[in-house]
Amino acid sequence: MLVFKFGGASVKDAAGVANLANVVKKYAGGPLLIVVSAMGKTTNALEKLTKAYFEQHDSMHILYDEIKQYHYGIMHELFGSEHPVFDEINNTFVEIDWMLEDEPVDTFDFIYDQLVSVGELLSTRIVDAYLSQSGLNSKWLDVRGYIHTDNTYREGVVDWTKTCESIQQDIPAMLSQNIIVTQGFLGGTSENFTTTLGREGSDYTASIFAACLNAKSVTTWKDVPGVLNADPKLFTDTVKFDELSYAEAMEMTYYGATVIHPKTIKPLQNAGIPLLVKPFGDPEAPGTKIGNTSNQSFEKAVIIVKDNQVLLSVSAKDYSFITEKHLSNVYNIFAQNLLKVNVLQTSALSLSACFDFIDERFEKLMGQLQENFNVKYNSNLKLITLRHFEQGLIKQLTEGKKVLLEQTSRNTAQIVFASN
Ligand code: ASP
Ligand code: MG
Repeated sequence: MLVFKFGGASVKDAAGVANLANVVKKYAGGPLLIVVSAMGKTTNALEKLTKAYFEQHDSMHILYDEIKQYHYGIMHELFGSEHPVFDEINNTFVEIDWMLEDEPVDTFDFIYDQLVSVGELLSTRIVDAYLSQSGLNSKWLDVRGYIHTDNTYREGVVDWTKTCESIQQDIPAMLSQNIIVTQGFLGGTSENFTTTLGREGSDYTASIFAACLNAKSVTTWKDVPGVLNADPKLFTDTVKFDELSYAEAMEMTYYGATVIHPKTIKPLQNAGIPLLVKPFGDPEAPGTKIGNTSNQSFEKAVIIVKDNQVLLSVSAKDYSFITEKHLSNVYNIFAQNLLKVNVLQTSALSLSACFDFIDERFEKLMGQLQENFNVKYNSNLKLITLRHFEQGLIKQLTEGKKVLLEQTSRNTAQIVFASN
């Protein structure tokens, strides 16, 4: 069996959904499970809505209306004005209507998952209805009954044993009858609340299904020809990798390459399942194959850029040396706030850590750190990570920039600098 994943960009409009159906048709002869993300930038829009709702801001209604209109617009193009899918979508929105009517009482992260998850519920309903309309035998599956997580909202931790049990129990029989269409990014708790697996987590969903079902491969369909050495929106002259090892792909995602979600590779590697990254506009093209290979070459360095970084500098209040005890205290606070450190450097008197700036978590983090430490920070920074680089490239990329931190090892260089 095959697992396909279609990201938001591939279903951002009616033409995208139609293209998805064409791709799927080519593979409809064998068992196929399709994981779909929210359409276009819907997850970002829902994040904004969640914030507005949590703060009871007036913009809430406008934001919500835009999300509705966007989906109805696509549906009108795909289905005309009458189709049973309109009822399903109306019902999905009604649940949000109810939620938004009351003032928020739960934690932000909990509310986030209940609201933001709607993006995938909507997109999969639409895709499933369109595949059926195109003559394909598709079936909509609510993933929340299969991917079981704990209740770490926004970063649900998957219970693999329970998840694989549920999947193996039901899905093979369904796949012998239907193409399954299900939501990426979502999970469910034992109390039937919705969780999300972390931004861009749909790849991970695909990899969980593939691992539990021992799929032949996972294909993630993208708006790029495959895995490139750098983001083509930021760099010209990018090159595509034909093959990459699991290890290299894992390194790349660890450092922030957004082409694949970081948690995706490991389960596939354990099960020996290849991950194909292919262009949705050209389904016959080979793309990139990530798997067991020694056949990878780096004619150009891998360049990974992360924006919106913050660099913290933490020192002891009495200006004493930074000890292991201090380090472990600081790291505990990072972990409690679900922060992932992108670069770390310690000196005698301070610890510097660079991570993604997450507005809702920053104030709490600062408060906790400041109880025991002096903390300084710079925000709005850029982090560039290079792999398989030559020294000249560092110079070229940092020319005229205010570099705040640089760390180089044999294969990897990381540079933090001011964005402008
Ligand atoms: N829709 C979710 C996001 O944008 C999950 C995904 O795209 O993989 O983060
Ligand atoms: Mg998305």
